[in-house]
Amino acid sequence: MKKYVFATNNAHKLEEVKDILGDKIELLSMKDINCLVDIPETADTLAGNALIKARYIYENYHLNCFADDTGLEVEALNGAPGVYSARYAGDAHNSEANMKKLLQELEGVENRKAQFRTVFALIIDGKEHLFEGIVKGEIVKARKGTSGFGYDPIFVPEGYTQTFAEMGNAEKNKISHRAKATQKLCKFLKSI
Ligand code: IMP
Repeated sequence: MKKYVFATNNAHKLEEVKDILGDKIELLSMKDINCLVDIPETADTLAGNALIKARYIYENYHLNCFADDTGLEVEALNGAPGVYSARYAGDAHNSEANMKKLLQELEGVENRKAQFRTVFALIIDGKEHLFEGIVKGEIVKARKGTSGFGYDPIFVPEGYTQTFAEMGNAEKNKISHRAKATQKLCKFLKSI
């Protein structure tokens, strides 16, 4: 059976990919291979960070692997917070503070267009592949909803009236950036 390491410490992401991949492909977590480091994400692009994590595993453990990185890109802010989405308001990874800062930056700004973008980097026998998923939408003026995480309460996807946080995970996960990127990755893995 083919096996891959998913270079993430996020159990939720691991389950999401496992669900799509099915049981013909073995998926290992970082814990499963005894890799307990928090790999520093020092690149200035999503693809760069995803590649850093995947290369770390490939070079140190010699296992085929993949990793992801996600950001919220706001048009009026030239793509910010983008790759810095988790630490937009400082290093604390505080979603409330991040949303507050973003709403302040957009005060009085008409163009509310934004997109979530996820990039997966996959390394198989030394060869690198990238997969991208995008969901377009808008930043609303005030938080709405309680489900999800991160910027979900202030993002309404195109064609919808509710924020991701009002929608609930089941519906969000059908149309999200991460779902789209995950499906592309899994389709490729099943095809080889
Ligand atoms: P990560 O690469 O998945 O860790 O995402 C980086 C940051 O982007 C997170 O800390 C969140 O602030 C934001 N983010 C990623 N995915 C989502 C999402 O689905 N909804 C809301 N915010 C997200």
